[in-house]
Order: sequence, then structure tokens, then C-alpha cells
Amino acid sequence: MVARIIPVDPFDLVIFGGTGDLARRKILPSLYRRLADGQMPDDARVIGAARSELDDSGYRAMVREALEEFVPEARRDPEAMARFLECVGYEQIDATGEAGWARLAARMGAGRVRAFYLSVGPGLFLPLAERLHDHGIATPESRIVVEKPFGHDLESARELNANLARHFDETQIYRIDHYLGKETVQNLMAVRFGNVLFEPLWNSQYVDHIQITVAETVGVGGRGEYYDRAGAMRDMMQNHLMQLLCLIAMEPPSRFGADSVRDEKLKVIRALDEVEPADIVRGQYEAGPDGPSYRDDVDDMRSRTESFIAMKLSISNWRWAGTPFYLRTGKRLRARASEIAVVFKDAPHSIFGADRGRHRNLLSIRLQPNEGIELGVTIKEPGPGGMRLVDVPLDMSFAEALGPEADEIPDAYERLIMDVIRGNQTLFMRGDEVEAAWAWTDPVIAAWEARGDVPAPYEQGSAGPEEAQILMHRDNRRWREIRA
Ligand code: NAP
Repeated sequence: MVARIIPVDPFDLVIFGGTGDLARRKILPSLYRRLADGQMPDDARVIGAARSELDDSGYRAMVREALEEFVPEARRDPEAMARFLECVGYEQIDATGEAGWARLAARMGAGRVRAFYLSVGPGLFLPLAERLHDHGIATPESRIVVEKPFGHDLESARELNANLARHFDETQIYRIDHYLGKETVQNLMAVRFGNVLFEPLWNSQYVDHIQITVAETVGVGGRGEYYDRAGAMRDMMQNHLMQLLCLIAMEPPSRFGADSVRDEKLKVIRALDEVEPADIVRGQYEAGPDGPSYRDDVDDMRSRTESFIAMKLSISNWRWAGTPFYLRTGKRLRARASEIAVVFKDAPHSIFGADRGRHRNLLSIRLQPNEGIELGVTIKEPGPGGMRLVDVPLDMSFAEALGPEADEIPDAYERLIMDVIRGNQTLFMRGDEVEAAWAWTDPVIAAWEARGDVPAPYEQGSAGPEEAQILMHRDNRRWREIRA
């Protein structure tokens, strides 16, 4: 299979925070890979902007170092790297100051796509939006890209939306959730809506329950201060897991267009029931061989912030009434693994006799590692000896299906940045979606704070606190194993 790459239109992309970690680790390497693959035109321009005292050549040297560090050696082509560095420039700009903006304005080309990537803290969104507007740099066609965290609660998210809306129309705003840029996540939509096989079964009549797991092995690392104010609920559940839940549970949109898809996702969030306290498990990792305890990591021995959360959710609509959704995410768990598992109900009657055991179909959508989709089916165990049943996977892992090309699956950021340039908002969160997710999240957090809940301890390298297992066992169900 040869991937067809359609070059995007020439563009000027300004990365505010162009010297930061995200720019160096993700944004610049992604752009380089798109240029090397022939999707980013050679006359595109990427302008880093930050306070650091650098000129074009100093920034190019920094970008070269970032590419050498974050692009795998096999993907580094000296000729493509040289062409990419030609596209790169720098402006020294303080988002809250007035210097440098006129120079940036003079750099912008006419008749090209203009995009501004705000890879800076949310406190700088308004000063940047104002200055882009006041200096005539942002045009009505320009696009603005913002990163998570998009707010800390409903009130702050509303404020960020209102601040951006002062200078940009919603059709110009691209709120990134990089989970939506993952190949498998889009494949989830292809599997659901491109095949006749699954959609008729995609409801509470046939689906016993759905599990979504996003497990990390890392602790809070250097982000302790931020993380301790957020916790797993705000950092992961409110955005990434909620987005995955929306895609798996939404009604078929009328077309694969930005507003059709986002309208359906929004309906899912609005149909979520209130969560009972008994359906929430929060945990904190203890000290272990791989590192100190959560409380040591955030330097607060009295912290009650969760590094793990598991929840049982219900969606009140005709499709899903009666099918629970179990979501969990946490740090310092057994393996780095993200998976959505759709567990179908038992066959209504076993013609092979009750002693043949319970067999159920399962659709597993793996986001990482080894992106792919696996369908568990029941077959006869080969050989003589009567009708013995066995569950086997029909594996649609990309590595198998696509061969060496699977290695070439673009990083989520590559796809998302190219979507910004193309003006396709389908895989970005709309303002009302983000606000609805916070409107659902806030009372849950307020309730556990009012109760004074203390997170349950869990061992590093485990599957989270014992209470999370009980959450499932109580319903006669089991979590899928967390495995890399
Ligand atoms: P970072 O490493 O701290 O970088 C911040 C960038 O902002 C630097 O380039 C800094 O450069 C620039 N900056 C700070 N104050 C500025 C000002 N007043 N005017 C102009 N530039 C200013 O942060 P990061 O990790 O790259 O994260 C950037 C944003 O993305 C944050 O909102 C973060 O939450 C979000 N995010 C990051 C990641 C990640 O993996 N890193 C993942 C998801 C979301 P100077 O000091 O030179 O000005």
C-alpha cells in the first residue's frame, strides 16, 4: 500500500513558545517529518517566537538539536533537514510586551495560510490574541491553536473561551487534544461507520459494557506543582478519556465534518448521568522500587490529589441505557497501555452446552503501544476430542496489516498540525464541548472535596488500588489486564 500524500497550501506558522519543551519534542519534529514526506511545501515558513535572545541562525541551531534528539535516526535525512531549517526563523517577542510585533507583522506573507500555535501557558492566550489582533497580524482567515490544559474548571474554561472569542471566531480556533490525532482513534470511526458489521450491535442490547484504560508507567516527573493542582480527573479524565468516550458512544454523524462530529460528541457528554460516590475510586501511588511516593513527588505529604482514578459511568439515552462504561487512568501503573474494549454480551443460548463455558466477543482498540484493533471471536479448538470452544483474536494490528508502512504512521501532532493548515476542525474540541466536559467534571470534584475523600494507596507497577478491582467485581466483571 502506498500512502498518497497531498501537499498542503503554503503557510506561515508562528509557534509562540517556540523554544519550549512541546515545540522541541513534538511540534518541530512533526513539521520536519511532514516536510520530509512531501506534505509540507518547501516555501512554508515556521517562525519560532519567545523571549529568549536568539536570531534566525541561533534558533535554527536549536531546532537542529531538537530534531537530532527527537526524530529517530532512521527518519533523519540530511537533505530534508537542511530544507526544513531553511523554512525556519525566529522573532524575539514577549507575549506581554510591545517589542518585536512590527517585525513579526513584516515577516508575514500575503495570500498564504496563517496559523498561530500558542504553545505557552493559558495565562498568555489573551495577551497574545490581543497583540495579534492589534498589530493586524491575525486576519479573519488565520487559525489559532491552543494546548491543554484548557481551563481548570468550568469558570476558567469559559473565561478562556470568551478571551479567545474577543479576537477569533470559533471556526478559527483549534483546541488540541492529541488523543484525537491518533491513527487508531480515527480508525475507531472507520470501523464503526465504514462497516455494516458493528453498528447494528453497538448498543445496550448487545454490548455488556465498555472499558477505557489509559495507563502510564511514569510518575508526575517535573510537573509536580501543576499536577497536584489538577490530578488525574482534570489532567486526563476530563479531556482525553472523555473524548474517547464520546467517539465510542456517539450516534453516527450525518457526515465526517467538523460540526456534525462535534455535535454528536457534545450530546454524549450532556447525556452522562451524575456519578455516585460509590462509582468513583481515587488512588495515590506509594513509594516503590521505581521511585518515591506521589506525595514525595509533589513535595506535599498531605496532598489528597489523585494520581489514579476509576469511574463507572452511565449514559442516559436509548442506545446506552443499561450499558455501563468503566474508565480508568493513572500513573506509575504496570505498563504504558491505552485501550478501549467493547465487551459484547454472551450468546443468548449455548447450543454446545453450559459446560463449554462463557464466551463473548470483544473488540479491543489499542491506542498504545502497537496501535491496532483486535476482534475476539469464539471458534472450535482444532483437532479431535469433541466440540471444545476457544476464544481467538482476529488481529488487525497495523504492523501486520500494513507491513513496514505501519512504522510510518504519523505522530498525532503531524496529522493535527496539517489539519490546522487545511482548515479541518473535525479532530479538535469545540468550545461548547470543553465547557460541557467541565460542567460534568466540576460537581464530581466538588462532591469528593466536600466529603473530604482521601485517595486509596496503590503499589507502583500495579493496576491501581484494590478498590478499583472491587468496582468491577461488584458487577461481576473484570478489568482487562494492563499489558504493554
Ligand atoms: P515550556 O517548556 O515551559 O515552554 C514555554 C515556552 O513559552 C517557552 O518557549 C518560553 O520561552 C515561552 N514563554 C514563556 N513566557 C513567555 C512570554 N511572556 N512571552 C513569550 N514567550 C514566553 O512549556 P511546554 O512544556 O513547551 O508547554 C507549553 C504549553 O503546552 C503549556 O501550556 C503546556 O501545558 C502545554 N502542553 C505541553 C505538553 C508537553 O508535553 N510539554 C503537552 C501538552 C500540553 P522563553 O522563556 O524563551 O520566553
